[in-house]
Amino acid sequence: MSTLSPIQPRPIRAEVCRVVFNTPLHGPYRHLAVTASATALAAMPGQFFQLLCPGQGQDRHTLRRPMSVYRVDHARGQLEFLFKIVGAGTRGLSGLAAGDELDIFGPLGQGFRLNMQWRHIVLLGRGAGMATLAPLAETAIARGMKVTAILSAARPELAVAADHLRAAGAEVRIVNDADGSAAPEWLEPVLRQIVTEQGVNFIATCGSGRLLRLVRRLHQEFGIDGQVALEQPMACGIGSCFCCVRPFVVDGQTIFKRVCQEGPVFAIQEAA
Ligand SMILES: Cc1cc2nc3c(=O)[nH]c(=O)nc-3n(C[C@H](O)[C@H](O)[C@H](O)COP(=O)(O)OP(=O)(O)OC[C@H]3O[C@@H](n4cnc5c(N)ncnc54)[C@H](O)[C@@H]3O)c2cc1C
Repeated sequence: MSTLSPIQPRPIRAEVCRVVFNTPLHGPYRHLAVTASATALAAMPGQFFQLLCPGQGQDRHTLRRPMSVYRVDHARGQLEFLFKIVGAGTRGLSGLAAGDELDIFGPLGQGFRLNMQWRHIVLLGRGAGMATLAPLAETAIARGMKVTAILSAARPELAVAADHLRAAGAEVRIVNDADGSAAPEWLEPVLRQIVTEQGVNFIATCGSGRLLRLVRRLHQEFGIDGQVALEQPMACGIGSCFCCVRPFVVDGQTIFKRVCQEGPVFAIQEAA
């Protein structure tokens, strides 16, 4: 059975932006900023854009690539993305230089939903998944919430957005595969300790199925609200092609939703 929830229409537009900077970070990560319209700058945490990545020859492609909003700089009129180079599209993005054009389409999807009563939220991101969570930290801190951000990476130097999150006022912890601290069996007691000692109202996660399951366990045990931003491969990004449909469990029933349209952010108890 397939159930499509009603979607609030919001302005979306395709526009050709000018690249302001495209800075290499550690390892395969890049930080890209483009000038953008007021429509694009209205993007909410968890929403994404479809980027028409440049490419030539074998690297030429017609499908846009989904990329979450990493930061909106209203003062400069800039939209920022933090991405990992994984294939042809992101390789094309990495070649952009200041002054180049980039065709973007958005903002798309349903972002994170914050409850103003929450006092302490935890962000749990794996790799580039933290790029999706970072704007949520800024919004929550601006609304007086405490934010603990746990960055999971293969090696400590590959943790993304740490400086940005610290500057925004989040408490940052980095866990990694190299010393085993990113393993769920190590992370779970750490999270339980934060929950029992500090009190946590909400956990958001992105970038890992193992972290999703960990957050769901904490939701089931402690009743903590949770949301996950899913990085599902997708094509159109606007709900037409149904490429990104996946099963969710709602009221004990399996139903199918489009990640691009009903998501990419979902309640943790729904995400299978
Ligand atoms: C809503 C959304 C937001 C995203 N936000 C970010 C972000 O902020 N930063 C970032 O670095 N990445 C993000 N991604 C993932 C990003 O879209 C993919 O890495 C990108 O599309 C890969 O394109 P490519 O042409 O470089 O690689 P491809 O050649 O298409 O694929 C290379 C490898 O990446 C895998 N891959 C392809 N598409 C995805 C995908 N959508 N998710 C996960 N793995 C994929 C493929 O299975 C393959 O192994 C997001 C994805 C979604 C759906």
